Amino acid sequence: MAVAKWLCRVVIARTHSLELNSYSSSKRIYLNNGVNSRPARYSSSCHGQYDLIVIGGGSGGLACAKEAVQLGAKVAVLDYVTPSPRGSVWGLGGTCVNVGCIPKKLMHQASLLGEAIIDSKAYGWVLPEANAIKHDWQVLREAVQNHIKSVNWVTRVQLRDKKIDYYNGHGQFVDLHTVKVVVKTGKEHTLTASHFVIAVGGRPRYPDIPGALEYGITSDDIFSLENSPGRTLVIGAGYIGLECAGFLNGLGYDATVMVRSVPLRGFDQQMAGIITDEMMSKGVNFLMKCIPLSVEKKNDGKLLVSWTNITDQSTHSDVFDTVLFAVGRRALTKELCVESAGVKTVPESGKIFAENEQTNVKHIYAVGDVLHEKPELTPVAIQAGKLLAQRLFSNSNEQMDYETVATTVFTPLEYGTVGISEEVAIKRYGEDNIEVFHAFYKPTEFSVPQRNVKNCYTKVISKRKDPQKVLGMHFVGPQAGEVIQGFAAAMKCGLTMKQLQSTVGIHPTVAEEFTRIYITKRSGVDPNPQSCCS
Ligand code: FAD
Ligand code: NDP
Repeated sequence: MAVAKWLCRVVIARTHSLELNSYSSSKRIYLNNGVNSRPARYSSSCHGQYDLIVIGGGSGGLACAKEAVQLGAKVAVLDYVTPSPRGSVWGLGGTCVNVGCIPKKLMHQASLLGEAIIDSKAYGWVLPEANAIKHDWQVLREAVQNHIKSVNWVTRVQLRDKKIDYYNGHGQFVDLHTVKVVVKTGKEHTLTASHFVIAVGGRPRYPDIPGALEYGITSDDIFSLENSPGRTLVIGAGYIGLECAGFLNGLGYDATVMVRSVPLRGFDQQMAGIITDEMMSKGVNFLMKCIPLSVEKKNDGKLLVSWTNITDQSTHSDVFDTVLFAVGRRALTKELCVESAGVKTVPESGKIFAENEQTNVKHIYAVGDVLHEKPELTPVAIQAGKLLAQRLFSNSNEQMDYETVATTVFTPLEYGTVGISEEVAIKRYGEDNIEVFHAFYKPTEFSVPQRNVKNCYTKVISKRKDPQKVLGMHFVGPQAGEVIQGFAAAMKCGLTMKQLQSTVGIHPTVAEEFTRIYITKRSGVDPNPQSCCS
């Protein structure tokens, strides 16, 4: 058996000239040539060249691969980025690093800094004339892209150090145990494994209207756009649409959001209304209940967009420099030829239905955005990938918990939330069986520059009966992501209203507002703040 394993390794090494993990066929496997070595729990059975092939080097795939190799599995990762219709491409690391969370957060920060510069005047900073303060898109773009490249580099080094075989190529299933990889040079590799993880994520969709593909851009392009976007129409009012419109407006570009139904459908609608009110007050335009009809390029290079209002069927048009589609994402399962391996997908979305990340084919798993009806969020993909590797290559049976996942929409005034919305709470438990606590508040730091506090609002939904278990927490305000993260941990521990209200706050912070919350909607008492410190 030991000799067979050794032979198998030698054959693979010769075929691919790729570095192998230091491997001992005797009782135990030690990783990384003894550096940080620990006994691995998995003993490779060598069915195929790899114990695990991960297709997709994004948040979920990389987390899964790194964990699996730590546990002694022999792992390959395939990652390839098909250029966007506008030709944007990027490096290893997936959506979050290259065209998602990271560049978005940096551009959001750039926009917040613009506000802070204005605020600073009230705090005594002497500024040049207001019109002398300018933002330079190229500088921001370059800084963001440089940061991304450094992360791409670190990721590549990590894979090499961990002795994960990385193929910068497009993978396609050939059969149940085989994938074909076409690398950049056009060379083809045929790889086999005993387990596969599909972590191919998704790419932005385009609506089927004339001019969309030719002239529109998406989140795949905005963060690397050579020239400043100028007057921008953002089509779609989900996370991406609102976040992009928010930072573009903050950077000084005229931004309009076209909304088909309601902003942030699926989120607590009172909160969605509050963040869009705030965006409007900051100058973002909203075209409600509208759908795009066409995009045309005019002789001067500008884009003429026509749309219809679905309420009164009226049609309209206007001219923009940039049209950004943020109308959702599609899973990349078709390109992966999952049907060749017998993996079933949900027809409408191409996503994979997988119970506990296992597809309908026993040895093929899926994590991340490619999963049907699971949150499309980086930490979700990472956690699911890690836990899956632990279940596959060690004795773990811990499953991913997709409930009570906190999230934040990085709009100008951020919206952080964990648990369920008021609408879902009413539907699930009935209005009489829940309590909704709420409060407006004034961030101390907003007082001196006299910033608008109208939309700083928190809401906690709990069961009505003692011990009033908390069902959902919602927070609109500065640093909402930082605020909500800790409360998500508390909710995981079964937080009750009594525990929340008996928690001593940290003064003066915005997070303490959750600990001061006591007015119920049912009481009809004014939720506006009376004073800051009592
Ligand atoms: P991905 O990260 O998309 O990785 C999949 C990889 O597989 C890609 O590199 C892809 O090119 C590659 N691939 C696909 N097909 C193949 C193939 N056949 N062969 C080889 N390689 C292939 N989430 C948050 O939690 N917080 C945020 O603030 C946030 N902001 C976002 C902002 C934007 C604009 C976007 C678009 C997304 C944002 N997200 C955010 C979501 C987050 O980026 C995703 O949930 C996360 O990246 C999903 O990880 P994944 O591993 O499933 O897929
Ligand atoms: P969403 O599904 O959240 O939103 C899509 C939006 O586009 C909706 O407003 C939808 O309207 C609208 N839309 C869809 N089709 C059309 C059409 N044909 N014409 C006009 N409007 C249309 O997708 P996103 O692309 O915004 O985001 C994808 C995922 O990425 C999110 O679900 C999220 O998980 C993740 N993400 C996370 C972020 C974070 O954590 N901060 C940030 C950004 C993304 P309607 O409601 O009517 O269907």
